[in-house]
Amino acid sequence: SPAKMQARPAAAALSPPPVSTTIPNKSKRTAQDYIFGKVIGDGCYSTVFLAKDIHTGKEYAIKVCEKRHIIKEKKGEYIKREKEALNMLSNVPKGFVRLYCTFQDAERLYFVLSYAKNGELLPYINKVGSFELDVAKYYAAELVLALEKMHSKGIIHRDLKPENILLDENMHLQIADFGTVKILDPEVIRTIPEANIEDNSQSTERERRRNMSFVGTAQYVSPELLRHREDTRASDLWALGCIIYQMISGLPPFRGPNEFLTFQKILKLDYEFPEGFPADAKDLVEKLLILDHTKRLGVEDKGETYESIRKHPFFNGIDWDTVLEQSPPTIN
Ligand code: ATP
Repeated sequence: SPAKMQARPAAAALSPPPVSTTIPNKSKRTAQDYIFGKVIGDGCYSTVFLAKDIHTGKEYAIKVCEKRHIIKEKKGEYIKREKEALNMLSNVPKGFVRLYCTFQDAERLYFVLSYAKNGELLPYINKVGSFELDVAKYYAAELVLALEKMHSKGIIHRDLKPENILLDENMHLQIADFGTVKILDPEVIRTIPEANIEDNSQSTERERRRNMSFVGTAQYVSPELLRHREDTRASDLWALGCIIYQMISGLPPFRGPNEFLTFQKILKLDYEFPEGFPADAKDLVEKLLILDHTKRLGVEDKGETYESIRKHPFFNGIDWDTVLEQSPPTIN
């Protein structure tokens, strides 16, 4: 996330908690219920460990945040929202990392998550250079389905990128890192889907910048988040456009030598398609990467599915009802 723009802490900034073999009699879990293994990820605010439940032997990814750090950086609200969003999605069977439980000790907060065994999408794109069209189409479809579910619950991710899209043991996609989500008021989602419920006009420049520094990663951040920190589902559709472009071409569309210049490119819609980029894919990306967020494909769709995206010729051949049950095409 935004975090990635700053220097990252050393990989094992947090050492795993002490191991115990005593079986607790209370239902509330503690760190002693798990054997902590290797670090599988780390960000500015957390370290993610592979861990094994000592009672069942099942593997989980446990995200550990140091309270002192959260308080110092004033990220308490974000942690609360991350938990809330994960809980709202916990009954959705596919497409998201699942939160099993949370607990804390004096120093740390723990999120016990389903372990996405195959890790991040990014190294797969980097390894093969670019995805075959059927692979890109398949993962784009899984992403659309996940966005539909998330958005129909009023959850905007705001930091979708190939590092936050994980792959489970069957190579199905799971969206992770809800640390930057915005959860819309349910009333607002039902009545005015695209309403900007927060009045930012009173916020000071300092507040605006402080908030900016947290939301979104340079290359995938939408122009409206850059300009006004506006909360709209359309920001995730912009990221979808960036990710489809990247799966097919190998690189994200907006790339500057530094963050500032990347932002300039986004604000000017300054990007190009490489030669040979398939026409249908180009058309879809162009309809998602539109500066005016109210004009992006899908924004006008009513109901809980992005019909206009599903019907786009790029997705010809995708069976939307069964896509999640199919086995994904091999990445090579
Ligand atoms: P960032 O600073 O990138 O925002 P963060 O502190 O918000 O990081 P996450 O993005 O949730 O933390 O996790 C960091 C990394 O750990 C992920 O990019 C991923 O590689 C790995 N990771 C997180 N959750 C899981 C999971 N459930 N299964 C497998 N790997 C995971």
